[in-house]
Amino acid sequence: MAPSADPVSRIVIENVAIATVDAHDTEYASGHLVVAGNRIESIGAGPAPQGLQNVVRRIDGTGHLATPGLINTHHHFYQWITRGMATDHNLFDWLVALYPTWARIDEPMVRAAAQGSLAMMARGGVTTAMDHHYVYPRGSGDLSGAIIGAARDMGVRFTLARGSMDRSVKDGGLPPDFAVETLDGALAGTEATIDAHHDASFDSMTQIAAAPCSPFSISTELLRQGAELARRKGVRMHTHGSETVEEEKFCHELFGMGPTEYFESTGWLGDDVWMAHCVHMNDSDIAAFARTGTGVAHCPSSNARLAAGIARVPDMLAAGVPVGLGVDGTASNESGELHTELRNALLINRLGAHREKALDARQALRLGTHGGARVLGRTDQIGSLEPGKLADLVLWKLDTLAHASIADPVTALVFGAAAPVTLSLVDGKPVVEDNHLITADEDAIARATRDEARRLARIAAGA
Ligand SMILES: [Zn+2]
Repeated sequence: MAPSADPVSRIVIENVAIATVDAHDTEYASGHLVVAGNRIESIGAGPAPQGLQNVVRRIDGTGHLATPGLINTHHHFYQWITRGMATDHNLFDWLVALYPTWARIDEPMVRAAAQGSLAMMARGGVTTAMDHHYVYPRGSGDLSGAIIGAARDMGVRFTLARGSMDRSVKDGGLPPDFAVETLDGALAGTEATIDAHHDASFDSMTQIAAAPCSPFSISTELLRQGAELARRKGVRMHTHGSETVEEEKFCHELFGMGPTEYFESTGWLGDDVWMAHCVHMNDSDIAAFARTGTGVAHCPSSNARLAAGIARVPDMLAAGVPVGLGVDGTASNESGELHTELRNALLINRLGAHREKALDARQALRLGTHGGARVLGRTDQIGSLEPGKLADLVLWKLDTLAHASIADPVTALVFGAAAPVTLSLVDGKPVVEDNHLITADEDAIARATRDEARRLARIAAGA
């Protein structure tokens, strides 16, 4: 028998509500999606085209909403094993309480924590994850390799923001002296991670960003040289910025200017940069982000947990600033879920100056999908459901008790309870089926993270 002229396998989904999150916010009340290999081949109203070859699976999407997979733009995976600590602290007090424990992490702990963080996000519809990892204790093993391996094994698209800290207490910083790297060590470690793991291809499953941690834990020289390194290597740049009033005060005292001016003076504004939080931004800060195309990872639950404040997301969007959503580390957002951040972004921003006009359901969904792709520099590939893009998508089940009485599916997804995921595809391959991870054993991960959390607590206590 002659080989097929068209060997690409196809998955066909029909009878499904679709929110494409394309440039026109195109939606279909009942439509179809055809996935061919790792790409979206066609999408539209009504049933799929007739005569498709090599259809390996047909899915009746009745009662479901299909959206682009969610994209997380800020996280710290290792914190999965230090959740529920220092629960009533602001950022600086919380950091000072946790640094001594974090400085004791090793490779098995980081691997288990990465699996826990990834599993929780993937189960909730995240198809592109990121980890900003900045704690590299001497002799702790290949932490970056362990994190990247965990993401690869789970089948999730991934950005590792290789972080670093070199400003400790003796230099006026916040972390203890034993928790930081040297300037040269941080730069060499970042360059080695880029060389070993960064894949710039269209279908890339692993990308690396250069990511010194925050103004109060890094030297000015690490910011400057980190930016030079990132631009020489052609990778993106990430850091924390303008998170709290304490950080603003720190920058004025040490550098004689606010965080945004400080970042601009060190080469850290640009369309290859995205920053977490950006809560304390005045009009000229927002204008500088818009002028330079600098992106923002909005982390509403973490900002509430640490009493940091409310980021001015409606003003950023009106100015044209790229904004995505972030879980942030799970020591400051114990749930570790991104689909609940759609709702929290909407609700928390309505507590700000714009009140009920702050964000609507479709804007919240856009933040978690296309907005995330923008800040990661990947809108050609992910973030919306369009022919030719990568097949990263989620089927949300909206016909059960939690959502069935809400007529509009996007409203149900964003305003309602966290919806179960019937199917999530990453690169055309299933990662979640019937609300369960199929690429990893959730119970085994739960046991490993509990054991590693206990081991870390024992080591940190000096036992
Ligand atoms: Zn963070």
